[in-house]
Amino acid sequence: MIDLRSDTVTRPSDEMREAAAGAEVGDDVYGEDPTVNELEARTAEILGKEAAMYVPSGTMGNQIAVRAHTERGQEVLLEEECHTYKWELGGIAQHSQVQARTIDGGDRGVVRPEQVHDGYVEGDDHRPGTGLLVLENTHNARGGTAIAPERIDEAARAAHEHGVSVHLDGARLFNAAAALDVPAARIAREADSVMTCLSKGLGAPVGSMLAGSSEFLERARRIRKLMGGGMRQAGIVAAPGLLALENRDRLHEDHRRARKLAAGLEDAPGLSPLEPETNIVLVETDDPAETTLERLRERGVAGSAFGAHTIRLCTHWDIDDADVETAIEAAASL
Ligand SMILES: *Cc1c(COP(=O)(O)O)cnc(C)c1O
Repeated sequence: MIDLRSDTVTRPSDEMREAAAGAEVGDDVYGEDPTVNELEARTAEILGKEAAMYVPSGTMGNQIAVRAHTERGQEVLLEEECHTYKWELGGIAQHSQVQARTIDGGDRGVVRPEQVHDGYVEGDDHRPGTGLLVLENTHNARGGTAIAPERIDEAARAAHEHGVSVHLDGARLFNAAAALDVPAARIAREADSVMTCLSKGLGAPVGSMLAGSSEFLERARRIRKLMGGGMRQAGIVAAPGLLALENRDRLHEDHRRARKLAAGLEDAPGLSPLEPETNIVLVETDDPAETTLERLRERGVAGSAFGAHTIRLCTHWDIDDADVETAIEAAASL
């Protein structure tokens, strides 16, 4: 099966498995796992933040960030198709007891500064006040769009003008960095916290990173413990994570293959691919998405449904040029 459902389906390389087996470990809840400490220091450096923390998943990273930045009852501004709002089980309500105010970021999921000003609510005797702005880059549900750092900056500055903090969901931040040819730290510069996934596209089996100021991370560490995310000899999974961080340049390959895939699908019957900006190809389907996926699956290709008539195909490091060609042929025979 050529598995294009997600860039999370990758299996760790032999090198990663060896690194896991040989990792130096300690109890990370006591801050004593040298491999985790190294991963956190290296991530903070790459993301241009004071500190970083290893968390089991991107979802937990986002949820911790929301909790750390807000007070119960506040509002959080989010793009209406963003992961933190749509795909985390309403966690911001469950864990942080905040309510969402959504912003329509259009085709590419770009939040404009005037939308932040419009959405901002000042707290008073009747209104809860805005506690946080969440941005996402690349924007997954909008098709893996790579949003320019200037757009992130201006939305973040609009929030900061009101004293509102900014969290950047950068599950695929390194994809944005590769596509825009800028350092990830540049994109995250104005964000008070940033989350990025090691388990998407970079090939690590487990884990995400949450970065920000040392003061923010102190709060975040307590919340990670509260949520049950304190891990012990986590160096076993952090060691492949360290190697994953060095796979950032390889993402260009995924982007090139995504473009090749989209171009190849142009002529497939009943499919209309959108032009990819990174490793995600959204394809509009004449037939219902589920029917199309079933037929593709019969031909050895797996994708995921992203709407009634939209499917998502992801390239990743277990997909090579031959797989892309096979997928194109499968689609042509639909
Ligand atoms: C996958 C994803 C997450 C969550 O990461 P998990 O590790 O799957 O919990 C958060 N945000 C975005 C944009 C994602 O694509």
